[in-house]
Amino acid sequence: MTEAFNDTSPRAAGTSSEANIIIGGGPAGLTAAYELAKLGRSSQVFEGHDDVGGISRTCEYKGYRFDLGGHRFFTKVDYVQKLWEEILGEEFLRRPRLSRIHYRGHMFDYPLRPVNTLFGLGPFEAVRILCSYIKAQVAPHTEESNFEQWVSNRFGRRLYEIFFKTYTEKVWGIPCTEMSAAWAAQRIKNLDLKGAIVNAFLGERGAGNKRVTTLIDEFWYPRYGPGQMWRACVDRLREKGSSVQLSSRVTKLRHDTNRILSATINGETESEQEVVGKQFLSSMPIRNLLQILDPAPPEEVMALTDGLRYRDFMIVALIVDREDLFPDNWIYIHSGDVQVGRVQNFKNWSPFMVPDAKKTALGLEYFLQEGDELWNAPDEDLVALARKECDHLGLAPSEAILDGTVIRVKKAYPVYGPNHDEDMAGIREYLSAFDNLQLIGRNGQHRYNNQDHSMMTGVLAARNIAGDANDIWSVNVEEEYHEERQDTGASSADRALLPAPNPRFR
Ligand SMILES: Cc1cc2nc3c(=O)[nH]c(=O)nc-3n(C[C@H](O)[C@H](O)[C@H](O)COP(=O)(O)OP(=O)(O)OC[C@H]3O[C@@H](n4cnc5c(N)ncnc54)[C@H](O)[C@@H]3O)c2cc1C
Repeated sequence: MTEAFNDTSPRAAGTSSEANIIIGGGPAGLTAAYELAKLGRSSQVFEGHDDVGGISRTCEYKGYRFDLGGHRFFTKVDYVQKLWEEILGEEFLRRPRLSRIHYRGHMFDYPLRPVNTLFGLGPFEAVRILCSYIKAQVAPHTEESNFEQWVSNRFGRRLYEIFFKTYTEKVWGIPCTEMSAAWAAQRIKNLDLKGAIVNAFLGERGAGNKRVTTLIDEFWYPRYGPGQMWRACVDRLREKGSSVQLSSRVTKLRHDTNRILSATINGETESEQEVVGKQFLSSMPIRNLLQILDPAPPEEVMALTDGLRYRDFMIVALIVDREDLFPDNWIYIHSGDVQVGRVQNFKNWSPFMVPDAKKTALGLEYFLQEGDELWNAPDEDLVALARKECDHLGLAPSEAILDGTVIRVKKAYPVYGPNHDEDMAGIREYLSAFDNLQLIGRNGQHRYNNQDHSMMTGVLAARNIAGDANDIWSVNVEEEYHEERQDTGASSADRALLPAPNPRFR
């Protein structure tokens, strides 16, 4: 990172009581600042990390670039698409997409294709699947309250065990019998064996919808990863007189009965600074936001934050001395004998992610909780584990893995607790008393927002500052947005494999 980029000093946007203060330099916070700049207003963004982009940042190790996960750019919101093009333009690549499932040494097409699936599993397993499917049709579970019952009733128990159970449990860390059927229904809507068989013979592309095909087979991606987008956004902001201060954690928000008055940055350190502001936008996790309010909220409001749960995430990045390992952008790992959940091949996202074309950069994704044994393990042990698991899966031979690093991401996934709606209603009611505070983004709203949703909350909040009256909580409430593949680029089958907001019973 260049010195100029890593700016920790207060800047031109000023510290006057007219300032627009933005907490967090992720997609939501930066987009809010960008929209404000377009509306002729400057702002001050405070980012706790030493880089921008939040969960959508791109990390670098010895010249190799890694996302936290892999970040496809897809949206059905035209305004977001326009912003992406405006900020990064020609730097966007259109990339082919391939992602398969790794199970017991075989690679299965994803979305599943019956012929490929049955051949891959062999005749014995094929018969087991067929028998259990017939059994599920003839004598389904009478009760359909959990994920396991819901999926088994539709696909048969064997297919459920192979393609749903292990991965879902890896991602969420809880048994499928403790996840709600409603959640399965929402995620796996429209995916059925009959449909899959029709697809196998007519082809996915038989749908006759060019946009469907295009979005499934291709996606947009910045040449140097999503972090490039957010750094470019910072450059634009600084040009327009706004400031983005890195390594600047907001540690206190002083308030009176109905207004936030000031933000303290890096409290109780040498660089402590108090900034007075007129408007405040927060993309920090709601739970943390309530903890830094001064005076503190009433105990009954604090108690509601127990319901805001999170799933943490870790990526072990490996540099491999091989030019070409496999063609996939990412691979779902369903085998239960390894802990890794997904493997990214960043060179297949963009060839510019590696500085040496003769080598490859992999990212092994582990879904876990902060404080787990794996989370606390020393980095060298984690690199050794990733190396062993890669070798075991046949993805890269141990001796070709030259080096590695570990990136831990706290609160990567907001998880809804059992009384989510009630908890959030209580928290929002309390916070609504502050008429100059808006909550934006993913953890800022405790919502399973992608980049585009997070960005839209930032856009709407910025416009509210300029006098509009948008409901920022209306973004990402449209279920269809998540589920229909023509809109998101992710098929319903795809979605079944992706982490989701509310796997538990409600
Ligand atoms: C594994 C994975 C894969 C994903 N894949 C995709 C994908 O393919 N496409 C897609 O569009 N989205 C994807 N997402 C979602 C995407 O990462 C998020 O939607 C997006 O980053 C949310 O932006 P945000 O600004 O709301 O929050 P964040 O990215 O979380 O940014 C919030 C920022 O606030 C800062 N902050 C927190 N507390 C403070 C504080 N007290 N003071 C100052 N700063 C603070 C944080 O450091 C952070 O930089 C994925 C997420 C994960 C976990």
